[in-house]
Amino acid sequence: MTSTAATRSLSSILPLLKDVGPYNEVPDEYDFLQASKSLTTSAILVIGAGGLGCEILKNLALTGFRNIHLIDMDTIDISNLNRQFLFRPNDIGKSKAEVAANFVRSRINDDTLNIVPYFGKIQDKPIEYYQQFDVIICGLDNVEARRWINATLVSMVDSDLNNLIPLIDGGTEGFRGQSRVILPRLTSCYECTLDMINPKVTYPVCTIANTPRLPEHCIEWASVLQWPKNFPQKKFDADVPEQVDWMYKTALQRADEFNIEGVTRQLTLGVVKNIIPAIASTNAIIAASCCNEAFKFVTNSNPILNNYMMYSGDYSIFTYTYPHAQKLNCPVCGNAAKVVEAQNWWTLSKFMEEISSKQEISMTQPSLSTSSNYLYLRHPKSLEEITSPNLNKKLNTLVKPAEEMIITDPNLPISLKLVVNFVGPEDEPNDIKSVLS
Ligand SMILES: [Zn+2]
Repeated sequence: MTSTAATRSLSSILPLLKDVGPYNEVPDEYDFLQASKSLTTSAILVIGAGGLGCEILKNLALTGFRNIHLIDMDTIDISNLNRQFLFRPNDIGKSKAEVAANFVRSRINDDTLNIVPYFGKIQDKPIEYYQQFDVIICGLDNVEARRWINATLVSMVDSDLNNLIPLIDGGTEGFRGQSRVILPRLTSCYECTLDMINPKVTYPVCTIANTPRLPEHCIEWASVLQWPKNFPQKKFDADVPEQVDWMYKTALQRADEFNIEGVTRQLTLGVVKNIIPAIASTNAIIAASCCNEAFKFVTNSNPILNNYMMYSGDYSIFTYTYPHAQKLNCPVCGNAAKVVEAQNWWTLSKFMEEISSKQEISMTQPSLSTSSNYLYLRHPKSLEEITSPNLNKKLNTLVKPAEEMIITDPNLPISLKLVVNFVGPEDEPNDIKSVLS
């Protein structure tokens, strides 16, 4: 397979940011033959073969793309069948990528259509694998995989902006969605917008415990406070119907006690699993937008999306497009260190707990070091043992103000640079102590 991605230079991308194209104003020099040739020869990768992925794959094949790769690590579940329309009951348990590829291949029945599925993780593939593509489209439902592919594509671009592969990212949540075109190093990247993601809704424990007002408060009371009390050895499993029933009944009793209406089994499941309903038509709208961008990019036919389109069908229809700015201190595409605030009394362990839950950092297993010292490393074991005593030391005894720290996580191909701004009292304030105890 020949790759055109490596030869795609900045000068060939810039015209796409202008406002003309054959679909609105045909420029004299537009080469239709070349456009049609690139459509059939370019290699395109679709990551995710779920609700968005099924739509994207179908659209690309019908649009005329002939060289499509598809990656998904999941197998088909019965709950997918209402919207992931390439799958049938007989396919339950099989690989999404393989079944989707077979379905579209047999339906279109064209020998020139080449769909290559891969049943596995995107992290399994080396960087050379990604270099063969002209465009990559993500139809994913999780942040981690998006961060990984984004960082990988940004790292591939050299200082002359060669090896630039556009990343088209679609996402949906109920009636809302967004599509965006990321030109690594040229536009804002996925990491630049990490702080825009809606964090999981959490409720203050004191409200849950003492003054519930919403049905969700009652469900959280059952889930956060009552489950561990009643089943201290057992982790709640939302896929076991009896356990969900217990949770629902417990929440309902609580709701009755406080005259709160609206606790249902469905809502209980939604709250404990943090489920956002997937809507097939929203997926179709967002997938269509992503595929149009891929088509425009590959054929040079029209200006591409610059660079973020949000769509909401919550109340009527609203859509808005704007160029999301690149962040100077983006840990992936920028260079500056991120400044974070820390209380003077914080220990290293407290600091790690506070920052890893921050939206724009979101790390589950952070390790920290400075240029001269390991502060805390999780691996290897020998270094974990040496550095673990630091966890209970005050952070301001371990790093100097303005000293750069590096934070890494085994799940992410990036390291974040942080600089701490120390504020507040040296000792833990008493009122905080009493609240915590
Ligand atoms: Zn960025």
